[in-house]
Amino acid sequence: MNIHESEKIAGTLQAMGYVECQSESDADIIVFNTCCIRDNAEKRALGNIGAVKHLKKTKPELILAVVGCMTQQDGAGLNLRQKYPYVDIVLGTNNLSELQNAIKNLKNTGKKSVLIDPNERPEVKEDEIKYRTSGCNAWLNIMYGCNNFCTYCIVPYVRGRERSRKMQNVLDEFKSLIDMGYKEVTLLGQNVNSYGHDLNDGSDFAKLLQEISKINGKFRVRFMTSHPKDLNREVIDIIASSQNICNNIHLPIQSGSNKILKLMNRHYTREYYLDTIDAIKSKIPDCGITTDLMVGFPYEEDGDFEDTLDIVRKVKYSSAFTFVYSIRKGTKAALMPQVPPEVSKERIKRLIAEQNVITKELSTGYEGKTFEVLCEDFAPKKAGYVCGRTDSGRLVTFKGNENLIGNFVNVKIYKSQSASLFGDVEE
Ligand code: SAH
Ligand code: SF4
Repeated sequence: MNIHESEKIAGTLQAMGYVECQSESDADIIVFNTCCIRDNAEKRALGNIGAVKHLKKTKPELILAVVGCMTQQDGAGLNLRQKYPYVDIVLGTNNLSELQNAIKNLKNTGKKSVLIDPNERPEVKEDEIKYRTSGCNAWLNIMYGCNNFCTYCIVPYVRGRERSRKMQNVLDEFKSLIDMGYKEVTLLGQNVNSYGHDLNDGSDFAKLLQEISKINGKFRVRFMTSHPKDLNREVIDIIASSQNICNNIHLPIQSGSNKILKLMNRHYTREYYLDTIDAIKSKIPDCGITTDLMVGFPYEEDGDFEDTLDIVRKVKYSSAFTFVYSIRKGTKAALMPQVPPEVSKERIKRLIAEQNVITKELSTGYEGKTFEVLCEDFAPKKAGYVCGRTDSGRLVTFKGNENLIGNFVNVKIYKSQSASLFGDVEE
């Protein structure tokens, strides 16, 4: 979502005549697209903003802008203005479209801007210019905001309530991406399964997927994120029956303990979640299932953590994003008793180790088999090699050159190394 937002920022700048440069010292404008989901993301953003102060000294005409959800927190605008007075423009999540005007204003009048609107229900903007940077993969927002108020999470406060794009607009953008030659489109939303509920015109995520699967052409569709309380059997059936929708579901469980899930306000139990996993596995046997897991949420005891490890063993995720809970001011969990950091540290280590064993085991299962892979790019730091993903979302590295990039190829896996798969193109 943030990468795609940065593409929109880059699109705005490009339309104003700016071109990408390779180093900060060459830049005429630097825009920081921030995230405040966890404390370390916020610290990193502030560190990066601090690190460019010296550039402004040697090049006073350099424009510095800070956008993204960090600016939308209570008092963040004022804080940025006081601690980083050399920043020229601060825009809230609903003010991004004002970037062009803010730059023009600064250039013409020298006036700095801090524009942060409250998170009411802004209109969905349909006229955004995007400068797509992700090769043959494109991102496509189907909705914005979130209504769920998980007790640890800042997103509903900084991104506002759910707003879905009209289905026709999503389908039009989708078709235009395929016409432009994109081979994979990832649909984005904080909870894609509640897509359309706010439109009151009968649209929902299952219908959207169905319409997308009717579009002609050879392409792949992925989507994120699904909320376990809302991922229904209809969607699972559509994934199972559609050629184009990837057999890959990101289904964040957060914790395996019913006590913790209740405190998190997640609205499902581990039993309900495991039922959904069973339905996925029986309908889509080769489905790559990934998740987000959190340790150290308030009141988490050893037994709760063991429940999380148990879920990891039962589901066998192809990969998992693992996080240590981090206090977000203004959320309900911030007021709950906190788990000592050393306990969380120990738990995250054990959790990662457990998942690594499973990832390795699943990788071994890929050896000797052939998969259709969308070749996406050159392999990092491996001359003469390219890489891409299987339908299930696993990364594969194989010998090849630029002619393969953007094409579907059959690759036979000869070796696996924890999360990495290595293969050869089959003629
Ligand atoms: N809407 C998505 C993901 C949102 S944020 C969903 O509901 O799954 C991505 C992940 O960040 C979350 O799934 C959660 O695991 C993690 N996260 C959110 N708030 C956090 C916090 N305060 N501390 C640590 N991790 C957090
Ligand atoms: Fe945050 Fe929960 Fe919304 Fe995801 S569903 S963005 S975790 S509040």
